[in-house]
Amino acid sequence: MKHQVTLIPGDGIGPEVAGAARACIDATGVSIEWTLHDAGEGAIPKYGSPLPDSLLESIRKNKVALKGPITTPIGKGIRSVNVALRHALDLYACVRPVKLYPGVPARYENVDLVIVRENSEDLYAGIEYDDGTPEVKELIAWVKAHGGKTIRPDAAISLKPISTTASERVIRYAFEYAVKHGRKKVTAVHKANIMKFTDGLFLEVARRVAAQYEGKVEFEDRLVDNMCMQLVQKPETFDVLVLPNLYGDILSDLCAGLIGGLGLAPGANIGDEVALFEPVHGSAPKYAGQNKVNPVATILSGVLMLEHLGEAKAAQRLEKAVADVLKEGKSVTYDLKPRNDPSSVGTKQMADAIIAKLKG
Ligand code: NAP
Repeated sequence: MKHQVTLIPGDGIGPEVAGAARACIDATGVSIEWTLHDAGEGAIPKYGSPLPDSLLESIRKNKVALKGPITTPIGKGIRSVNVALRHALDLYACVRPVKLYPGVPARYENVDLVIVRENSEDLYAGIEYDDGTPEVKELIAWVKAHGGKTIRPDAAISLKPISTTASERVIRYAFEYAVKHGRKKVTAVHKANIMKFTDGLFLEVARRVAAQYEGKVEFEDRLVDNMCMQLVQKPETFDVLVLPNLYGDILSDLCAGLIGGLGLAPGANIGDEVALFEPVHGSAPKYAGQNKVNPVATILSGVLMLEHLGEAKAAQRLEKAVADVLKEGKSVTYDLKPRNDPSSVGTKQMADAIIAKLKG
């Protein structure tokens, strides 16, 4: 059966890592018809939008997409296309396996956990009011009138919505994921001691959902600051983590650091209708066009995609080919070699070594 997949190369290092992943996926022999689409600032001259309707239509039709990273300007300019895509397609659960492969230089010996990040709300919802605007003045006055807290008049304000609906579906997804993948424990991460209503709600929902899995999946919760220390000290004690959006974003990069870096961290954005696969890392503009960065995070996102498409054997073969190349440690990019080691290879050469393992 031929699968239809929308491919968004992205920008910065996106086209290089997405191209490498496509070549590896095609080399498994799974038949895929790729529909290529631009997004981000580069799409504006052609489509008049960083997130063209034709792209959303293509993903809705194909139901599966593979995406390279897309740049979001800091402080000004367009809002995140990555966040907008997750909203537009209702991709409510962001799933990021964090696995240490043998041969990868890292400070740990045994890390194998999965982050499940809420993908639609929290401070990430993009509900912001700029300083000095009539809206922010009104909001400051309203807050003072309803509870007496004073906000400085020169403040900008972001809102942090956390709902029962969004919390429940992502927490349930985390427990179902644990059951399906034979995982033993779910840890809910929050700051409910300080944010009693928002994170408090997240924790309360987590406790309620956890009760329905009693005897099947163990449950615990951790304050996010403590969680950071626990992850750095004893990552092997964690299994599935479920977090609100912003903590999930930050802890994803922390966890990538446990397993050799962002070049090795894959991800999936899952909704009821559509799934979009992409690495955790961004567009690393300083490396764009240099054939330098590690393609594995995007290739492993492709492994997750093959599993989702029901191509479990091809997924296993591709993951094994990646693991073999990592274990040998020969044809690997700069991030997996000692600093300034001249024997590191480029993005394309690492992908070629993976393809050679697949075929060999
Ligand atoms: P980044 O692009 O993830 O890069 C941060 C650092 O991580 C790089 O400088 C590099 O470290 C390392 N790295 C990232 N990808 C790598 C790879 N494939 N192989 C090896 N090392 C890799 O983060 P950023 O510089 O903070 O963000 C750049 C842009 O990407 C921003 O516009 C941001 O908004 C966007 N972004 C997009 C997405 C997405 O599309 N989903 C996600 C995150 C960020 P060294 O410098 O140590 O070599």
